Amino acid sequence: MSLYDVYAQYPIELEAASGMELTTTQGEKYLDFYGGHAVISIGHSHPHYLAALTEQLGKIGFYSNVVQNRYQQELSDRLNGYLTGEYALFLCNSGAEANENALKLASFKTGRKKVLAFKGSFHGRTSAAVAATDNPSIVAPVNAGHEVSFVAFGDYDSLKQHLYTAEYCAVIIETIQGVGGLDQPSIEFASQINTLCKETGTLLIADEVQSGFGRSGKFFSFQRFDLEPDFIPVAKGMGNGFPIGGVLIHEKHHAVKGELGTTFGGNYLACRAALAVLDVIEKEGLVENASLLEHHFRAEVERLDIDAQIKGAGLMIGLDFGIPTAPLRKALLEQSHVFVGSSSNPNVVRILPPLNCTKEALSYLLSEIKRLS
Ligand code: PLP
Repeated sequence: MSLYDVYAQYPIELEAASGMELTTTQGEKYLDFYGGHAVISIGHSHPHYLAALTEQLGKIGFYSNVVQNRYQQELSDRLNGYLTGEYALFLCNSGAEANENALKLASFKTGRKKVLAFKGSFHGRTSAAVAATDNPSIVAPVNAGHEVSFVAFGDYDSLKQHLYTAEYCAVIIETIQGVGGLDQPSIEFASQINTLCKETGTLLIADEVQSGFGRSGKFFSFQRFDLEPDFIPVAKGMGNGFPIGGVLIHEKHHAVKGELGTTFGGNYLACRAALAVLDVIEKEGLVENASLLEHHFRAEVERLDIDAQIKGAGLMIGLDFGIPTAPLRKALLEQSHVFVGSSSNPNVVRILPPLNCTKEALSYLLSEIKRLS
């Protein structure tokens, strides 16, 4: 049987990985500035992560949510430490699922149906999440029944007009757009979103699937703005490659037995992976490192006189060259042996290394970008 052929792939097969280094089956080495799509937060094969998962596997790997699992509570308590206000945690398995559940909750809690999303958004491929994604080519007819309006960042009048109908259950926002190419709202526009949501009883979803867990230089990217989300979907960096997602739900929204559910979500291995990620983020100061490296990145782009606009924040950062970057990314892979990310904006190179990336590694990447661009 063949594989269902949906991915554009490099002719590369990986055998092993450690820190930022990827090793192919041919023994070739690559540096990872892509993290398998912003997933690798604490580096590949981190010893603390390996030890936690190995220990857990030797005890119990899986049981469903029919029994209590103290690691879920531990994870919830640890995540609350990064937030102002109390949130409850619902665990699932991926970013799309996290957004899908957040959208469902917004609709359950308000009794409303419409969703407001932003132009350039990407929220995943499940039904409501893909409908709230600004890419009609991945929305199947079966997903197209959702009522979603797309507004541009900065378009206050349109936002106000839509929300004042009081028909919207949620505004869903990535405060740094990932797939869309690293655009961000202004501080002022973000405050306006917050105010309009409150005035109209619309619930706010801050999609932290890609930008969360320290990647933006704050633990959550929305914390760089005046935003008070009702729901915070997380995934990617949360498990450093072990599939896990979750929604942090503000305490003002009360749980109803059975309103959400999952078989695999919150299993022992997933929770131990996320707890180990938090241990390393805290012990190694990785949120601070992401912020420090953003400054280094900006300084190096200036020093090397790279002719491109810097976009994003922390280690969710990139360069917009104003011309298509596919040839540059190919040259970086083939000649410099570095993986970088693309985006739906073809002019943007997206840089998403593990959060324990170093100044030296970033300088190497930027000198290669300068040489090849
Ligand atoms: N939300 C954002 C902001 C993302 O970047 C992604 C994936 O790229 C998703 C949701 C979907 O996550 P997943 O692929 O884990 O379903």
